[in-house]
Amino acid sequence: MKRTLNIETVKKIGEEVLLKGWVGSIRSHGKLIFIDLRDFSGITQVVFTPKMDEKMYSLVSEIKPEYIIEILGEVSERPESMRNAEIPTGLIEIKAKEVKIISKAKTMPFPIDNDGYEINEKNRLEYRYLDLRRDRLKRNLKKRFETISLMRDIVKEKGFVEIETPILSKSTVEGAREFIVPSRNFKGKFYGLAQSPQQYKQLLISAGYEKYFQIARCLRDEDPRGDRQAEFTQLDIEMAFPDSEEDVMSLMEEIYIKVVKEIFPEKHITQIPFPKMTFKEAMEKYNTDKPDMRKNKEDKDELAFYWITDFPMFEWKEEYKRWGACHHPFTLPQETDIDKIKKNPKDILAHQYDLVLNGFEIAGGSLRTHDIETLTACFEVMGHEDEDLKKQFKHYYNAFEFGIPPHGGIASGIDRFFAVALNEESIREVIAFPKTGDNKDLMMASPSNVSKKQLKELGIEISEDEE
Ligand code: ASP
Repeated sequence: MKRTLNIETVKKIGEEVLLKGWVGSIRSHGKLIFIDLRDFSGITQVVFTPKMDEKMYSLVSEIKPEYIIEILGEVSERPESMRNAEIPTGLIEIKAKEVKIISKAKTMPFPIDNDGYEINEKNRLEYRYLDLRRDRLKRNLKKRFETISLMRDIVKEKGFVEIETPILSKSTVEGAREFIVPSRNFKGKFYGLAQSPQQYKQLLISAGYEKYFQIARCLRDEDPRGDRQAEFTQLDIEMAFPDSEEDVMSLMEEIYIKVVKEIFPEKHITQIPFPKMTFKEAMEKYNTDKPDMRKNKEDKDELAFYWITDFPMFEWKEEYKRWGACHHPFTLPQETDIDKIKKNPKDILAHQYDLVLNGFEIAGGSLRTHDIETLTACFEVMGHEDEDLKKQFKHYYNAFEFGIPPHGGIASGIDRFFAVALNEESIREVIAFPKTGDNKDLMMASPSNVSKKQLKELGIEISEDEE
């Protein structure tokens, strides 16, 4: 007999069905036993009546929460007083005829039938596969999937093509610090894990892929800062020949308006079109470049999207005692005079735009420089030597010499968007297998040591005090 999903039982009143799933709560009133059977589609109440024979009774008595079982039974309407309007299967129950235990389960280390916020997060992350059994996380991951599918549909409809780009890439001075991966075949040499598809997507533009997008994984080896993840997901977009910043911004705006309307209809957007504010104005008025512009901060269903524009091109990096790019070095300065760029880096504005939601930056992008002189000047301001750069970005400089159209793009960190839209305080609640704030994977116990043999193959020696 073919399996029926819990959610389908309501259409099968009077029929015999085979259900499979996880045992939720068990309630016994003597020989009258109720089991809530859970599968990915929902929950069904199964009833074992006192009429069952001894063999079945002893099997049912063995069942504990979280066992995986199989039930053959008849779908029947519940007596009026037993109906539960809160769940889609609340009108029916399954009168069990046969039961089979498929897999037993130890006692859970923590409850999984509630929201789980009160449980120590380290415990939850160590046993993430158990934590993920809870309804809240299932809902979050389902919404995440629905949103990403919708985002794909929206941009596909507009002629964008999703193209995967490498994760195993090259270490460059793009901006953030990369994770590096030692090469076994080329000892002493390293790959860099892509901190974003930035360079690849610009090269795709030069190759004539005029409308690129990707649901991209980005990896950054940055110092742990609160609620960040070393590995995160972006909706990454790039287009050739934008008329202005507006072309990129309005696309991202349209995506988020549709996503809210279709996937989070209970939310309301404070203002459409999304208002804009310059970086200068934001700093002067709110002393931050990501002001929380909600009208009512108590309202959990308000989404205040806001564009911040006209960022400075460069910012002083005290740590390195030099200028760095506010966004990244490929951003187009608003100044066309190269001498001015070199002489007055602090006054140069950039064609950069960030999208802020309820006080969080959820997207950032820019128009890009497409002429070599300006790009080189920007790198020079940041203290990079011409020769060194040409070596590091050989692919880039070469591509520019073969022709590249004006282009621009944006990337939206969708983990943060989900956290806000799902009223979660931490992005860890919207990622299936997140790392801790200090980048540990408690479930896999990573990072971990590797064998001496592996190190030797890579030509790496660990100094004593670091072992
Ligand atoms: N690559 C940039 C980032 O990850 C986004 C962009 O400029 O498109 O922030």
